[in-house]
Amino acid sequence: MTRISRMTVEDIRFPTSQHLDGSDAMNLDPDYSSAYVVLHTDNSQGLAGHGSAFTIGRGNNVVCEAIRAHEHLVVGRTLEEFICSPGEFWRSLNGDSQLRWIGPDKGAVHMALAAVVNALWDLYAKAAGLPLWQLISGFTPEQFVRCIDFRYLADALTAEEALDLLARCESGKSDRIERLQREGYPAYTTSAGWLGYPDDKIRRLCRQAVAEGWTHIKIKVGRDLQDDLRRLQIIREEIGWDRKLMVDANQVWDVPQAIRWMQELAPFKPWWIEEPTSPDDVLGHAAIARALDPLGIGVATGEHGMNRVLFKQLLQARAISFCQIDSCRVGGVNENLAIMLMAAKFGVPVCPHAGGVGLCEFVQHLSMVDYVAISGTWDNRVCEFVDHLHEHFVDPCRIRQGRYLAPQLPGHSTEMRLESRRQFAFQRG
Ligand SMILES: [Mg+2]
Repeated sequence: MTRISRMTVEDIRFPTSQHLDGSDAMNLDPDYSSAYVVLHTDNSQGLAGHGSAFTIGRGNNVVCEAIRAHEHLVVGRTLEEFICSPGEFWRSLNGDSQLRWIGPDKGAVHMALAAVVNALWDLYAKAAGLPLWQLISGFTPEQFVRCIDFRYLADALTAEEALDLLARCESGKSDRIERLQREGYPAYTTSAGWLGYPDDKIRRLCRQAVAEGWTHIKIKVGRDLQDDLRRLQIIREEIGWDRKLMVDANQVWDVPQAIRWMQELAPFKPWWIEEPTSPDDVLGHAAIARALDPLGIGVATGEHGMNRVLFKQLLQARAISFCQIDSCRVGGVNENLAIMLMAAKFGVPVCPHAGGVGLCEFVQHLSMVDYVAISGTWDNRVCEFVDHLHEHFVDPCRIRQGRYLAPQLPGHSTEMRLESRRQFAFQRG
């Protein structure tokens, strides 16, 4: 038996705003930060689960405090209890009646839940001696379904439908695992197109991305139309027309403005427009999707999608062509598995959001589970990659020729190096 003996929480912040890395139309000067939790156990080998939520600076302390508020729900419980029924365990963490009031299922308290839940999965995978993607991919459909809390989902996906879907994906699993280990999972890069970068830097980074084998590239848009047109021209000159180009507005537009702006950008053939408007606006996204469909532009969103209910509605309303899960915004691995199952049912490809601190490390596992065990394909699917801050992780993601190589170390790749955590511990004042 392995008992969770205590929880420690750390406020870690990197001064990324100095170089405008991560700058976009909404987020002008992010300091990439981590609300970091360690679940320590009584295991004599020092087994511990690590997890975090990603923020961009101010407010990281709020999420840290919200993580601490979950302490009584986790400390004293056993890993075996979690393994036996991860879905019920998840509901017990998410269902504390007093904490629930400051959500429910949204905001700082839900991001805190993600950090705790991801730490539990890290603990489970480390104890099992497997990388997380391989642990979950190896579940039987029955085990898999036990990870999900189906509350509020019955009008879109029942446990029986999920079982059927997973059972259909059982055949060919071992071939897909082998292929994944050989070739890696398809990815795209956002490293070239931050809004704060000058044109010559964009040109240089695009050239570099092509040389590195990237086939999908994303840039930020939405601050100034003439700027966007000029930058897209530069990018198409560098990457040609065979590579896929995606654009991301980070929520700055109203619905009619999004449609008009994208009609102007359409000649550059964007594959998707990401976060064209408020992340909560299901019907707005649906209107944009209908207007842009004849132009061959899909709508993508999800990185600020607060919970599985919002994703359910986006799918039901045919508001998205690409489902962008984020490993640290909804309530961690369990809730993302539910969202991925719904996306598979609605035939919408999952193309995760990543970047920040550790999001690439964490979410690659989920894309790999999607490929091996849920959708059974990587057609039209790419997982985001941004080349920032990987050196701080014990098991950093590895990219080769525009693909994520499958993680091999046990765990969820969530553990940050102790030296980095000490060096970037946030000092107030
Ligand atoms: Mg984005």
